[in-house]
Amino acid sequence: MKLEFLGAAGTVTGSRTLVTVEGQRLLVDCGLFQGYKNLRLMNWEAFAFDPKQLDAVVLTHAHLDHSGALPLLVKQGFSGPVFATPGTIDVCHVLLPDSGRLQEEDAAYANRHQTSKHKPALPLYTEADAERALRRLQALPFEQRVDVAAFLRLRLRPAGHILGASSVELSIDDATVLFSGDLGRPDDSIMRAPAPIEHADHVVVESTYGDRLHEPQSAETVLGDVIKRTAARGGSVVIPAFAVGRAQSLLYAIYRLKTRSEIPDLPVFLNSPMAIDMTKIYHRHRAEHRLSVEECSGLCHVAERLRHPTRDPSSDHERDPRTEGAGEEQLPPVVLDREHVEPHAEDQVHERDRHPDREHDDRAQLRADRRDALERLHVRSPRPRGTRSRRREPCG
Ligand SMILES: [Zn+2]
Repeated sequence: MKLEFLGAAGTVTGSRTLVTVEGQRLLVDCGLFQGYKNLRLMNWEAFAFDPKQLDAVVLTHAHLDHSGALPLLVKQGFSGPVFATPGTIDVCHVLLPDSGRLQEEDAAYANRHQTSKHKPALPLYTEADAERALRRLQALPFEQRVDVAAFLRLRLRPAGHILGASSVELSIDDATVLFSGDLGRPDDSIMRAPAPIEHADHVVVESTYGDRLHEPQSAETVLGDVIKRTAARGGSVVIPAFAVGRAQSLLYAIYRLKTRSEIPDLPVFLNSPMAIDMTKIYHRHRAEHRLSVEECSGLCHVAERLRHPTRDPSSDHERDPRTEGAGEEQLPPVVLDREHVEPHAEDQVHERDRHPDREHDDRAQLRADRRDALERLHVRSPRPRGTRSRRREPCG
């Protein structure tokens, strides 16, 4: 058996591990490189293997750093099965087309504003590419075994990270190799604990947060204190949140704080149609998490969707705190905002450690992002002359 780490090595994104046994090839995860431009450029490099020669792919979970290069793989000739849990497949149906759309938007932006040296700038892949990749997905429920090749047997174990997240157990002859995938906490407020692993001969474990400890204080208490403090002085709380996983944890915490009257009954806005789709998927896969039907509905309804004029023209009827005003007659809102999440913040922290000279730029960018977020809510802070709101860097 040969293992080749073709991504998530020296950085935390782009998870791709090639397993070769007796000429059979299985790819564990097919993730996008995210974060700094030097990492994103790696998405444009050819795969280190011929996609046509690959027998199968298995996904540990749907986050794009584990699944986002699947459309590229299919575009370049991979035609085998992609095994994943039903939950992961549902989440991929939301994430991958959205990723393709963003790539197309970035290329269009680069062409419109001539910000790329490539003429024309092309998307890494399109929404249609993503749709084609989705057709390769094959559901493998937790704990069921499947033979993926003559010498390879596969089983997915619950990993408790996000909906559908699994650890991948590979049986090769008489040896067992376990790929942990991203692991959840044993005491997460939403997801059930990861399945205990009784036995493995070799373990390949994710170690992104391996050098950090969780705070002993409850995250819900800390969040409640921040919201109360900010509301008391008439401020707005803007929370950057990944659409899958983090947004739902925050919504659930806010729902619980409100239910127990520990925070005022503030309006809450969610700036991500994708996060709304996600909460529906939580309803569908209730066995995987700890929420009751009532709590699931509470999570779904605690926030209103924030209208997004460029990406979401159909949502005109929905409320927009920018036009309705967030002051005087209304209590200040809490906003969960995908637009201000840098891709893989943890990745940037790692990179910043290695490139201290970039720190100044990053801080300036963070300040600009925060100012943009506040301006959207009519909380003015002066913007220096000659700066414009930041957009994702163009591709191509
Ligand atoms: Zn993940």
